[in-house]
Amino acid sequence: MKIAVLPGDGIGPEIVAQALRVLEVLKADGLKLELEHADVGGAGYRASGHPLPEATLKLAKDADAVLFGAVGDFSLDTLPRHLRPEQAILGLRKELQLFANFRPAVIYPELADASTLKPEVVAGLDLLIIRELTGDIYFGQPRGIRTLENGEREGFDTMRYSESEIRRIAHTGFRAARKRNRKLCSVDKANVLDTMQLWREIVIEVGKEYPDVELSHIYVDNAAMQLLKNPKQFDVMVTGNMFGDILSDQASMLTGSIGMLPSASLDANDKGLYEPIHGSAPDIAGKNLANPLATILSAAMMLRYSFNLEDAALRIETAVKRVLADGIRTGDIWTTGTTKVGTKEMGDAVIKALTA
Ligand code: NAD
Repeated sequence: MKIAVLPGDGIGPEIVAQALRVLEVLKADGLKLELEHADVGGAGYRASGHPLPEATLKLAKDADAVLFGAVGDFSLDTLPRHLRPEQAILGLRKELQLFANFRPAVIYPELADASTLKPEVVAGLDLLIIRELTGDIYFGQPRGIRTLENGEREGFDTMRYSESEIRRIAHTGFRAARKRNRKLCSVDKANVLDTMQLWREIVIEVGKEYPDVELSHIYVDNAAMQLLKNPKQFDVMVTGNMFGDILSDQASMLTGSIGMLPSASLDANDKGLYEPIHGSAPDIAGKNLANPLATILSAAMMLRYSFNLEDAALRIETAVKRVLADGIRTGDIWTTGTTKVGTKEMGDAVIKALTA
């Protein structure tokens, strides 16, 4: 199991270092992981003149999974767009054909107060949103701004999904549901959009191959409402690029803490790129203040989804739960009565819980 480790910029190296320490514990216990590092983002630009240097891309392509920190460096914001650090992620998604984005939203009971919703609505939430990443209105042609005969300008984009694209993400959704509670909810707008009518038809067809998974459908406007009203009714949601973009951000905020949320982007063979959902947080970089848990939990997702190592993934997640139950917190999730620690000390605590 070869892992490309791309720490990136800002807090990236600090948080990835803690995730690697956790993986080292599992390695010492017999897991055969091979880790190789490369520069990416601003670090890639500084080292080789490009945010996604050729050697980094080659390493990512050759590896079985990519563990990614974060990219972004405000001092490079004046560079032409194709050289900005953030382009590295888009390049990796495209080159590795990562079409499925997994965003879990989990609320640990100890952190339920951090949500803007009532604790009884969110406590115990464990939801996975799967968003298609490479199709839909974000990429559909034709698009543009044109001038009409009456001289008025008109903007237009095209929502498109081919049968094969829908089928591919539907299979991903059903397979993920099988690794959880076997409940899949497909989000669409089949009542208004032809593209979404096809979406629903194909998801139902694919569902026949997964009789053990309970399939339901919901319109996106209702989904947005239900996520606030009763988010615990959902287990896995699968949806298109635009609806998923919006719903996954909405769901992440149910948890109230950006430093806790991992993510994965997978290809058709479950090779994936794993990263925290937050950015490089330049305001706290290099100060031992960043919460490394989102990155540690991203490593757990990597073990589950790319390497099928459910037990090892659970072991990490259980250690994180134990640390939170013990009241250990980085500044972003600290509340009165709990113990505030730094990035490295949070890593120490997870390792202690892992080996207890
Ligand atoms: P950000 O997510 O980096 O930070 C937003 C706020 O959350 C900041 O106050 C930061 O201190 C805090 N924060 C983020 N992660 C944290 C953690 N692990 N622990 C504690 N606090 C944390 O977003 P931003 O400030 O808008 O962007 C900073 C840079 O990151 C920009 O260059 C942006 O383009 C880039 N970015 C990269 C990614 C990525 O690599 N996937 C994602 C988003 C933004």
